[in-house]
Amino acid sequence: MKILVLNCGSSSIKYQFIDVDKCYVLSKGMVSRIGMSGAVLVHKPHDRPEVTISGEMLDHIQAIEHVIAMLLSPNHGVIRDKSEIEAVGHRVVHGGERFPHSVLIDQEVMQVLRSCIQLAPLHNPHNIRGINACKQILAGVPQVAVFDTAFHQKMPPYAYIYGIPYVLYKRYGIRRYGFHGPSHFYVSHRAAKMMNRPIERLKMITCHLGNGASMAAIKGGISVDTSMGFTPLEGLLMGTRSGDLDPAIILHIMAREELSLHEANTLLNKHSGLQGISGISGDMRDIIGEAQKGNSFAQLALDVYCYRIRKYIGAYAAVLGGVDALIFTAGIGENSSLIRKKSCENLEFLGLKIDEQKNQKASSKQAMEIQSEDSKTKVFCIPTNEELVIALETKRVIREAKEKQKMLKGV
Ligand code: AMP
Repeated sequence: MKILVLNCGSSSIKYQFIDVDKCYVLSKGMVSRIGMSGAVLVHKPHDRPEVTISGEMLDHIQAIEHVIAMLLSPNHGVIRDKSEIEAVGHRVVHGGERFPHSVLIDQEVMQVLRSCIQLAPLHNPHNIRGINACKQILAGVPQVAVFDTAFHQKMPPYAYIYGIPYVLYKRYGIRRYGFHGPSHFYVSHRAAKMMNRPIERLKMITCHLGNGASMAAIKGGISVDTSMGFTPLEGLLMGTRSGDLDPAIILHIMAREELSLHEANTLLNKHSGLQGISGISGDMRDIIGEAQKGNSFAQLALDVYCYRIRKYIGAYAAVLGGVDALIFTAGIGENSSLIRKKSCENLEFLGLKIDEQKNQKASSKQAMEIQSEDSKTKVFCIPTNEELVIALETKRVIREAKEKQKMLKGV
């Protein structure tokens, strides 16, 4: 089964076209600057060089039309006919409590998705735009929504309830949801496979360290706690997001600086984190580069970043009652030996020790173990593969829907 996996943002779309039965990526790419002047599509077929085109792409419909034209292109394409796209799997950021698992998209689902917009106003509207565009361009092709939040929906109430009046949870759904679900799911399963042990018996801590960053405590394959909360702002320090913060600080700054809600939101989401502390950049490569040159603000940002990861490792080891495996993934987790090393400092009391030579060798090219011989806890660096999880989920949901239909027809 060939599945188009889409991750639609406000002005960008990342895509992969996957033969899910072979777990093989036929082509992948990204459209950026949608709705701006000079939109760009970078497309990489599995067996030919990357190609870049630019032009006007006014909205998601035009962008997805260009992607499909690329898939069909005699020079750069991988299919002869549109009908070879058998399904579309969408990354949808927020599924609220209504969607604890992936769903086949129909009118009713769309209505609920629209009601989830208020939970993720920065993400869900663009995901919905992508779904509507596909409905128009690929009429009749089944579409499945795979939620960032779904993997964390089995958390116990004491992990997801905040210390505010309970009525606000009931009224507005204010609780911890957690994000990056497909990534935490993928790397935990991959690590269990590498350990040759059933995931049901393992206690794991996963660290998804990208531009957005979150950690999860995973017991027996179930996420029992995670660092992102009601929104993707809570938890670890991120590129431009603050992570954990005394809530009174926001009220204080809003009053002192006379900020509007919108301005406060922008401050916490776009001008905080590594960017905010260093005043240099939200990109970890820049921060490491400047810290190495002796910039004390970059060094402080780096120290805060790793200290907070270490703090969560300790907390989650307590939550799990021990830890069999610690896993690093995503842009920073896969590529920075320095961040992995600093985040694991002084954790020997947990039986966790990194082998620096192995750590240096690890990268986003392959999954590997990086703990020392005498470390009781395994430490992994595993390239994430959220798109594969979305494709596999899409196939599963469509197969189940077909079986249900057959049963109803009495076939
Ligand atoms: P992602 O959101 O998963 O694409 O991750 C983006 C983050 O990964 C950015 O902060 C990048 O600076 C960071 N990153 C990518 N490569 C490296 C590297 N070699 N060393 C440190 N950080 C990296």
